[in-house]
Amino acid sequence: MKPTLTRKMRTWYGLTLTLRFYGTHWAAVGPLPPHPQLVNMLLRIGLSKEDSVHLQILHELGHLQSFPIMVLFGALFFKLSTPLWSTLLALFLLWEVLSEAYVILREGRNYFRIYGIGRGIDRY
Ligand SMILES: [Zn+2]
Repeated sequence: MKPTLTRKMRTWYGLTLTLRFYGTHWAAVGPLPPHPQLVNMLLRIGLSKEDSVHLQILHELGHLQSFPIMVLFGALFFKLSTPLWSTLLALFLLWEVLSEAYVILREGRNYFRIYGIGRGIDRY
């Protein structure tokens, strides 16, 4: 399967990897096999293709940027001996939130413009 889009990206901790996108549903990081972009895809429903692809790329980069934080949380959960399934669920949810927070921080007002949040506030 050939990617429809590739982006070479560098993280704040010095790792350079290639992100590969297969349409709007699958993505792959570096040498890893493609994974479904379930959360990323759900968050982009109703957006234009251009905005959707732009935010999808940043979201996947957000996963890479926040990876060291996830390692720390993983170690914390391990130290607290939390059950495996609740740990994995918590780490998954946290990683998705951190990745989208990265997108919001990177995009700033443009993120809210894309989603139409705050439109019309200036009139009042
Ligand atoms: Zn994600």
